[in-house]
Amino acid sequence: MKLILLGAPGAGKGTQAEVICEKLSIPAISTGNIIREALRNSTELGLKAKSYMDSGKLVPDDVVIEIIRERLSKEDCKNGFILDGFPRTVPQAEALDRMGIVIDRVIDIEVPDEKIEARMSGRRVCGKCGASYHIDYKPSRDGVTCDACGEKLVQRKDDAPETVRERLRVYHEQTEPLKDYYRGTGKLRVVIGQEEVADTTRETLKALEA
Ligand code: AMP
Repeated sequence: MKLILLGAPGAGKGTQAEVICEKLSIPAISTGNIIREALRNSTELGLKAKSYMDSGKLVPDDVVIEIIRERLSKEDCKNGFILDGFPRTVPQAEALDRMGIVIDRVIDIEVPDEKIEARMSGRRVCGKCGASYHIDYKPSRDGVTCDACGEKLVQRKDDAPETVRERLRVYHEQTEPLKDYYRGTGKLRVVIGQEEVADTTRETLKALEA
């Protein structure tokens, strides 16, 4: 299955991507994670993307389109994949179409802005391996360090409240039009994000089949 997860930053796409990845044994591909890893490794891509990312802006289309083109050409994508955080603009969606990729389902996870702002303030990440936690919804075992590698957890720079507001503005302006883009294909399913992650997961899995 070739799947796109749409939704505002912080709507829970990453968590749902992990569940589906496990269930369907297809890779979850997050452009945000790829860029953050490039940043940690100080590669050319990381350096190019840093200022956009830190200020809550989108990285230019040509940069992310190349990242995706390269990633989707890998062997592990041949039976399907989950795109988490791509496409984020209409030109990115058009580029995906031009690559000849036929998407089976687009799931849009809807969460109101106020809830997103509250959620993002509690998000913590591991600066070393990139694992993501939340102080209330998904705490690490000791609440301070990463379960996977023991590194201290930190708040992402772009999860600071003023940057979150900018990311939401950018989402409404540039990413939301994708709902209409995919509605027209008949492949869009809307999932209302729930308080409990497990409830959202149940709805998401239902939407995969509907
Ligand atoms: P995310 O973790 O998906 O919220 O992505 C974090 C940041 O990476 C975004 O705020 C953008 O700066 C950048 N980014 C990730 N995916 C894309 C994309 N498809 N297009 C443009 N910028 C992106």
